[in-house]
Amino acid sequence: MDNNNQKLNKLRQLQKKYLSQLPDQISTLNTAWLGIIHDKSPTALNTLRQLTHNLTGSAGTFGFPAISDEARELENCLNTHEDIQSLDEAALKLIEQSLRRITNLSKLTPDNPADVKPSSAQLSANNKDKQLIYVIEDDPLIAEEICTQLNYFGYQVQTFPTTEDASQTLKERMPSIMLIDIELPDGDLAGPEFAKLFNRYSMVHVPIIFISARDDWQARLAAAQAEGSAYLTKPLDFNELIEQLENLTSHHEPEPFKVLVVDDVLILAEHYATVLSSSGMDVKTLSNLDELLEQLSDFKPDLILMDVHMPQCSGLDAAKVIRQKNELLSVPIVFLSTEQDPLKRLSAMALGGDDFLQKPISDERLLAAVRTRAARFRKLRSLMLNDGLTGLLNHVTIKMQLETEISRSQRKGEPLSFAMIDIDHFKAVNDSYGHPIGDRVLKSVARMLKKRLRKSDLIGRYGGEEFAIILPQTDLKTAENLLHDVRQTFSQITQHCHGAQFSCTLSAGIAQLKPDDTTDNLIKMADKALYQAKNGGRNAVSKAL
Ligand code: GH3
Ligand code: MG
Ligand code: MG
Repeated sequence: MDNNNQKLNKLRQLQKKYLSQLPDQISTLNTAWLGIIHDKSPTALNTLRQLTHNLTGSAGTFGFPAISDEARELENCLNTHEDIQSLDEAALKLIEQSLRRITNLSKLTPDNPADVKPSSAQLSANNKDKQLIYVIEDDPLIAEEICTQLNYFGYQVQTFPTTEDASQTLKERMPSIMLIDIELPDGDLAGPEFAKLFNRYSMVHVPIIFISARDDWQARLAAAQAEGSAYLTKPLDFNELIEQLENLTSHHEPEPFKVLVVDDVLILAEHYATVLSSSGMDVKTLSNLDELLEQLSDFKPDLILMDVHMPQCSGLDAAKVIRQKNELLSVPIVFLSTEQDPLKRLSAMALGGDDFLQKPISDERLLAAVRTRAARFRKLRSLMLNDGLTGLLNHVTIKMQLETEISRSQRKGEPLSFAMIDIDHFKAVNDSYGHPIGDRVLKSVARMLKKRLRKSDLIGRYGGEEFAIILPQTDLKTAENLLHDVRQTFSQITQHCHGAQFSCTLSAGIAQLKPDDTTDNLIKMADKALYQAKNGGRNAVSKAL
């Protein structure tokens, strides 16, 4: 073990020792406080002074600057009062508040000093598919309602009636986001006070949303001063809440760029792959062009890096083949070649290449060229393929995807199911609550589908209030269970309109791909099943036989 490590270990041990006696120290502090208010004891005041002074120094030394800062403020306050008689009402109040903050801070210290720095385990909670939300809310009914509604959207929720309960769990695991009530049993502004302490102490940033029945300046100011990311009033509009949660969690790691490297010289392909994947990209190499189209539809790269001179066929011809497919028209193709003749390069671009990189190429240039093109492609593709309101695949795209998935499942001999969903009596929603609220309902369907379905499922907005779902590797029975779950979940989601609450239902028709089915055929079957679900009274799932 080297010197540094030894030092670190020693430090940790000291920290551990310090932490283990901290609760006693805090409790002595509070006992002294009781002596001051109940017995007006001068000894108690001296003890408090001494203990606070010690705390200022020790907490800072052992890595808890927030406690040290608080203790220093208390120390200063105590020093302005010479004896117990000079402590007036206002001073007592300040001391009490300060003591409460110190006590709360001490509860936030980790059990294990190794956790003082954010460990990867703590951070990992943020990257999980199922995001963890902590809710500090003393009203059990509201807490339960939040839990239920957020579960519908795939969030994992843990509720705490007090900040103290939350502190305990925060030591073990950090959530992605916290929802905190403003008023709690321990004070009118206990929520923001706790948040402030948490923000000062915690080394992991956890966005906080305040929720409250209060809409007054004091409450809102306290929330703002506690760096709240949002302030939502009760009764909670869950669509708004989910929107906020999504905004706060959406700037997570974007998916790595996917690059397909095509080069007949395996060792070169592997070199490029190593360079690209070491910067975090997801790279596949291909040397046999016979597998090109299959790879493209399976891997769906954001960019193809292709050698021009290959014995099987030239990269330029391969590009022509790729461009024959509508769904591959816009995938960037970057050629790698030793070709120096500008005219020849130009003609390569005319054939559908996006760039021409000179071999040999430096790792930096290769990375930069790939990264910018892949990023632009992603952005354009998203504008082209997604529906503006819901972010789901648009009509054209979902149909195109269905075609691709059908041929893939036929090729692999795997089952595939397809579902059409239509919101029940949606016209009435628009008529009763207005078009913008209707739009919100559509967004909530989209969100719920994205959260409930699997990553491999494809979801599209087929038309106004109709949605289409492609379920690869899924038989009819499984699809039926999945759609039942979706139907039931949606019917339980509370929709809001200016304080009024309502809920909607949906109907679905599902069909499983038969050996000779075409895309249109499968859609027709699902549509027919949907019609049956509607005819049978709605809020139902029907399957095509
Ligand atoms: P059913 O249960 O038979 O499906 O009844 P419905 O009222 O849902 O069906 P209908 O097809 O009669 O009405 C669909 C409504 O959806 C009419 C249209 O105004 C509304 N709609 C379509 N696109 C949008 C949209 O983007 N936003 C909003 N707010 N409404 C939309
Ligand atoms: Mg409808
Ligand atoms: Mg309709």
